[in-house]
Amino acid sequence: MSGRRPLIAGNWKMNCLRADGLALASGLAAKLSAAPDKPACDILLCPPATLLADVVGVLGHCDIHAGGQDCHFDQNGAHTGDIAASMLADIGASHVIVGHSERRADHGESSTVIRQKAIAAHDAGLIAVVCVGETEQERDLGAAISVVCGQMDVSLPEGATAENTVIAYEPVWAIGTGRTAAVEDVAEMHAAIRRKLKERFGDADGFRILYGGSVKPANAVELLGVDNVDGALVGGASLKVEDFWGIIDSCD
Ligand code: PEP
Repeated sequence: MSGRRPLIAGNWKMNCLRADGLALASGLAAKLSAAPDKPACDILLCPPATLLADVVGVLGHCDIHAGGQDCHFDQNGAHTGDIAASMLADIGASHVIVGHSERRADHGESSTVIRQKAIAAHDAGLIAVVCVGETEQERDLGAAISVVCGQMDVSLPEGATAENTVIAYEPVWAIGTGRTAAVEDVAEMHAAIRRKLKERFGDADGFRILYGGSVKPANAVELLGVDNVDGALVGGASLKVEDFWGIIDSCD
């Protein structure tokens, strides 16, 4: 047993108007309060920024965290449309996702920018969920591990610790496609990430490494049972109370 408490994080992406988002958050809060036993994992919801304050309000004092899906690397200033990490913290967020592959692809975010965002998150007192992952072409070329380790080298700041940083390994080709990585490949990658963390930070046993990519209740037990998989970053299946709760329930 690793002793690491799993984290199940829901990334709602650009989904949910207010009524749907609040129903989703309150549905999960109700599940939690009705559960006979406390879940064996931490739970995080990352709604769109427009809903974050309301979701924090709905969650109240229940043991579900809320986080942003991105932040800017600057503390404030002339960045129209962007959100500072301190603004997320100010409305009650505890985490922020940085470096999601959709940000890397849609907004051309480099690992250097992602490191700056992680630093901004830490400075604001947030836990940075730093995403890494290879494309299908990179995996086919046998370069998956070197690509992911290269992303970690640059994306993780010197100040990263097990307390302020979570790694999310998300093979790009598995996100939103219904395809998941083979458990052997997940095990190999998570072991490589753990080794890389040890090389860089010394004692890396406390870092949580999440798997992401089409996680759903039907495959969660298998994926969460893989060595060094310390939880999941969940997109599509986090949008339905029963599906997300099914994944939470898979942590035992
Ligand atoms: C994600 O958005 O990080 C993700 C893994 O999405 P999905 O679960 O839909 O593949």
